[in-house]
Amino acid sequence: MSTHPFLGLAPLSAVRFASIEDRVARLLRTTQDVVIMQGEALLPLEGAIRATAGPGTTALNVVTGPYGQTFGDWLRDCGATVIDLAVPFHTAATAGRIREAFAAHPEIDFVSLVHAEAATGNTNPVAEIGEAVRAQGALFYLDAVASIGAEPVLPDAWGVDLCVIGAQKAMGGPAGVSAVSVSERAWARMAANPRAPRRSYLSLLDWKQRWIDGGRTALPHAPAQLEMLALEACVERIEAVGLETVTARHAAAAAAVRAGALALGGGLEPYVHDAAQAAPVATTLRAPSGTVASELVARALAVDPALPLAAGGGALAKEMIRVNHYGPDATRGVVRASLTALGTALAERGLPVDVQEALRAADHGWR
Ligand SMILES: *Cc1c(COP(=O)(O)O)cnc(C)c1O
Repeated sequence: MSTHPFLGLAPLSAVRFASIEDRVARLLRTTQDVVIMQGEALLPLEGAIRATAGPGTTALNVVTGPYGQTFGDWLRDCGATVIDLAVPFHTAATAGRIREAFAAHPEIDFVSLVHAEAATGNTNPVAEIGEAVRAQGALFYLDAVASIGAEPVLPDAWGVDLCVIGAQKAMGGPAGVSAVSVSERAWARMAANPRAPRRSYLSLLDWKQRWIDGGRTALPHAPAQLEMLALEACVERIEAVGLETVTARHAAAAAAVRAGALALGGGLEPYVHDAAQAAPVATTLRAPSGTVASELVARALAVDPALPLAAGGGALAKEMIRVNHYGPDATRGVVRASLTALGTALAERGLPVDVQEALRAADHGWR
């Protein structure tokens, strides 16, 4: 039988599994326990909420995009009292707004926040918000799936108790495994929660009892070896070039798309008004008035179907264009090709665009 790179693999050993966890911990600059979960990032995102929230919880759920809405639903499902703090998707949350919520509701003991939103293109100031959360003494849950690899993610420095990451965005890795760093405080909250999943695929406590507390010598079940090897390879690649180089590439791509879109003309505008609140992982653009974003994207993809362009989800499909310049797509070539294709789509609508000017601005913005 001929060999195939995906098939006939030896089982992944506990030693190898633990070493991949340690590498992910180094990527997060954390000394907390890191648990690699055998599923897409929604697994630890849901598992961490169900483990820590219950009827006694008062949660401040910051909504800056679609994932925040999902977290609020899970929290309510757990019986928590949920205070949703929604900010318009073209902006970001601020530490000031969080402090106001604490002043109005001193009983808040849990905060959920999405760091960067690939779906809306904004990013939140987690360091400043973390300071406010620490002063409140609340447990801090962070979705860093779209920020890891695209900008600094520092759970220990920021006081994050549960930091969830996935490799499929800026890390350029697999989607089928994910990780969460867990603080001692978070473990204690789970241990004290009678409703925390136990003997369940969602359970973080199972991983603590059966894996971490046993010195990580015996795996509770056969891991997804293909995805684990892909995660190891992608972390190795990031280590080889340096995490700062990878994040700088994403920041450059975001700056280039923003500058290029403004120079393109035709009424195209960055969706997130303030560049400081725009996520390095993906840039969202507002379709010119009189156009429909999903139609423009379809035309641009007809020019080049491989481009990382998408319309916004749900109601945003009319007005939002997403340029998902992450992972292998955080390159000058992809940025230039995306602007060119969007220029073609806008020109077909009879809008005045200057593609050459957009490309010059993008090249300049990249630096
Ligand atoms: C991409 C992403 C996830 C992962 O969810 P998918 O819908 O499976 O891609 C989670 N949180 C955020 C903020 C993301 O951008």
